[in-house]
Amino acid sequence: MSSIAIHPAVDSGFRATDAAFTGGTLVCKCASNPVKVRIKGDIAHNHACGCTKCWKPEGAAFSVVAVAPTESVEVLENGNKLAVVDPAALIQRHACKECGVHMYGPVEREHPFQGLSFVHPERFQESGWAKPTFAAFVSSIIESGFDPAKMDAVRGQLKASGLEPYDCLSPGLMDYIATWTAKKSGALAA
Ligand SMILES: [Zn+2]
Ligand SMILES: [Zn+2]
Repeated sequence: MSSIAIHPAVDSGFRATDAAFTGGTLVCKCASNPVKVRIKGDIAHNHACGCTKCWKPEGAAFSVVAVAPTESVEVLENGNKLAVVDPAALIQRHACKECGVHMYGPVEREHPFQGLSFVHPERFQESGWAKPTFAAFVSSIIESGFDPAKMDAVRGQLKASGLEPYDCLSPGLMDYIATWTAKKSGALAA
């Protein structure tokens, strides 16, 4: 029944969330001299993402991606292997030039997400990180070549996995963005 490869971390069932998780080390896929990035503290807003920009493991229709404060991100080893995928993008995705894994993606320009970095928690060498709780940009998997006729099945499988599917971000994050925009324009008191 579960025939669609959403993402290994989703399809295999989630590892239990450890309320005491205090961060860990992200490691790229290189067999030698891997890039290591330390994240202090737990991640937030972990979710599956169907956009075409996120790094995905081989064969997966979705990425699993979360945020951490950029000030909690520290490159520990082999940072010389990192390069920004698209310098014009909002998210400055720092990828390993050898294996392609995106190690962290800070938002530096003025934006509701400024000061946050996007990371892929499946690259933590530790377990216990907060599990994904929704799926974002679900319709966008079609832009990567996914069969549009299978979208009902994808959404059904996401729901069965406990991930509410959205075609943009979750209502909580959309409200967060709109609140930031309203405070900036003066429509809401700052
Ligand atoms: Zn690598
Ligand atoms: Zn994405």
